Amino acid sequence: MSSASPFVVVRVPCPVCGRDVTNRYIKTKSYIVQNRDVDGRIIDVRWLNPEFQHVRVQDYMLWVCPHCGYADTKGAFRDGEERDRHFDLMKDKLLEATRAGEPVIESLRSGIHYADEIITPESAVNAHLLAIYTRQLLSPNLRPHERLAQFYLRLGWYRREEWAESIRLSKDQAERMARVKGTWNDLPETEQPCLRKAVEHFNRALALPEHRGDPRHQIGTLGLVASIHQRLGERGEAMGVKRQIFEIAREARNERNRVLEEGGRAEQEFGRERLQQDVEWLTNAIEETKASLKQIFDEIVAEETPKVEQELREQRLLLNLPLIEMWRKEGRFHEATLRALQEHVELTQAAMNAPPPGAEVESAAAANPAAPEPEFKPTQSFRMRLKGLIDRIRRGE
Ligand SMILES: [Zn+2]
Repeated sequence: MSSASPFVVVRVPCPVCGRDVTNRYIKTKSYIVQNRDVDGRIIDVRWLNPEFQHVRVQDYMLWVCPHCGYADTKGAFRDGEERDRHFDLMKDKLLEATRAGEPVIESLRSGIHYADEIITPESAVNAHLLAIYTRQLLSPNLRPHERLAQFYLRLGWYRREEWAESIRLSKDQAERMARVKGTWNDLPETEQPCLRKAVEHFNRALALPEHRGDPRHQIGTLGLVASIHQRLGERGEAMGVKRQIFEIAREARNERNRVLEEGGRAEQEFGRERLQQDVEWLTNAIEETKASLKQIFDEIVAEETPKVEQELREQRLLLNLPLIEMWRKEGRFHEATLRALQEHVELTQAAMNAPPPGAEVESAAAANPAAPEPEFKPTQSFRMRLKGLIDRIRRGE
């Protein structure tokens, strides 16, 4: 066994109780993330030193003080830059709760074994739960929404892994969760509630005055919100948020371009170079947003089209499926689908408005006497569905 270690071990005073605590972080540039889920969860990494391939980097994100139960990022422990908005209040509440032997904090602390050679997913989950729970000691309007959102999102990633059974809860942990649930009523036990909590807290953070007027921050946060909606399968919501990003970026870019054109005091105040960097960054954001809107839209079309086609077939409406297929192969996907669907709507309407059989269709019957008269009775839900799809496709253009 080599003596090499992937970790840097650090001893610092806990910012809450003041006692020295030992924590560790992974050496920088020692691995490369190979794959991520749409909302950022690491799927796999490649360690530069293959000896460390068994180390799960995501389990080292939070530091913990075993004495008082403070759980937070390395940055918050070390220099305070990343600390909560109302850190001092949280600190008082946490010390008070620890002194009183608060049962949830006690249970979670007993399930965190950071001194072991490897931090297990179970320890990491308990650290995340502790980070969330200790913030909930504050009244809702004083909680650090952005940090809570991040903790919930990460907890959601663990829940996803549990769901996939790549992590199996030990008996000890199952009992611990049962105890915690006794006090923590809305303990999120599956992925969905974690992600919904993350969205809720990101949105509350966006509403805070300090984040208004900071387009980079708004766009970054909204980007995460959109990706969570995508993960939840809420493509319509994701597209709505992406459009919000698009508007914010466009407006902010116009504003900066205007200042650059006018020059003078406003330009001096912001700094020409910074304004130019902003314009470049915003332009990238606009392009990326356009591309991802198109991608989500393609996903909707790809998922919805076969369903509509199937329904149309069931309704015995004659469909030119080979033509649609040909358009697709030519890469005219949006255009082809939109046109095909519009055609269907027209056909549908024509069929709905058609006079009773035999009234005035002699010529059509004469032209092709072998073809049976299609009996078309669109149901209400079918019509609604078709209309909804067309509307969504139009909005996505
Ligand atoms: Zn402490």
